[in-house]
Amino acid sequence: MIVRCWGARGGIAVSGTRFDRFGGDTCCIEVRDSDGRVLIIDAGTGIRRLGKRLVDEGVPDCDLFFTHFHWDHLMGLPFFRAPHHFAVRINGDPLPGVTTEEVLNNVVSPPYFPVPFAEFSKGMEFCPFEGSGHFGNIAVTAVPLSHPGGGSGYRFEENGKSFVFLTDNELSYQHDGGLTLDGYAEFAKNADLLVHDAEYLPEEYPAHRQWGHSHWLEAVDLAEKAGVRALGLFHHGASRYDGEVAEIVESCRSEIRDRELRMDCFAMAADVVIRL
Ligand SMILES: [Zn+2]
Ligand SMILES: [Zn+2]
Repeated sequence: MIVRCWGARGGIAVSGTRFDRFGGDTCCIEVRDSDGRVLIIDAGTGIRRLGKRLVDEGVPDCDLFFTHFHWDHLMGLPFFRAPHHFAVRINGDPLPGVTTEEVLNNVVSPPYFPVPFAEFSKGMEFCPFEGSGHFGNIAVTAVPLSHPGGGSGYRFEENGKSFVFLTDNELSYQHDGGLTLDGYAEFAKNADLLVHDAEYLPEEYPAHRQWGHSHWLEAVDLAEKAGVRALGLFHHGASRYDGEVAEIVESCRSEIRDRELRMDCFAMAADVVIRL
């Protein structure tokens, strides 16, 4: 299984030389199974470049999953060229009470976008996903996020390797439908890679309580409790320059050393590739 990050930024896309290292595009992750089948999580601005790559490669189809529909996870969709070239299956309805098709129909249409949804969505297929299923060689399992309005996190498993993706997830506050820290630790248990929301510094968190995000120390707590092999920090704040993200990574590594854990830690960034 290969995990490739096309955007790790949260909130809004950013640009400029102070964001070169970790990238400015918002949330988009590609997962490939051992036969090359493509799964995608979220359609932040990173999905634009991914779509171009998939079209250039000539892949036959792909499966897209959404965590939720806040703009930073959705705003790249109108510029995702893939549905004009091959089948894109959109799996599941991560929010209670509304279908993914309804949500997309509302925003990817005039006056927000010049092309009507019926035309834009040719090539898209909306498929039910009841919380678990197989996509190629990968077993996918969903879990509710602790986030305003809800959402889904995911676990991907192939050949005994596992990748858990939990972004926009607040570990110190249980939003409606969300789990406790222990619940997420059980979901992420023994994962080879956990990618988790680490938007805040611990000292920033009190001013942002209930906003739906975690600080890096909580991400380390979860990674330790779950016994994961590697922790990828995600959802970097839009005003967080490269040097500041690097400082968060160093703080995490220092904490991991102090706790005598055997765990890698790094920041997810545009174009980072992890082979599991
Ligand atoms: Zn977000
Ligand atoms: Zn969100």
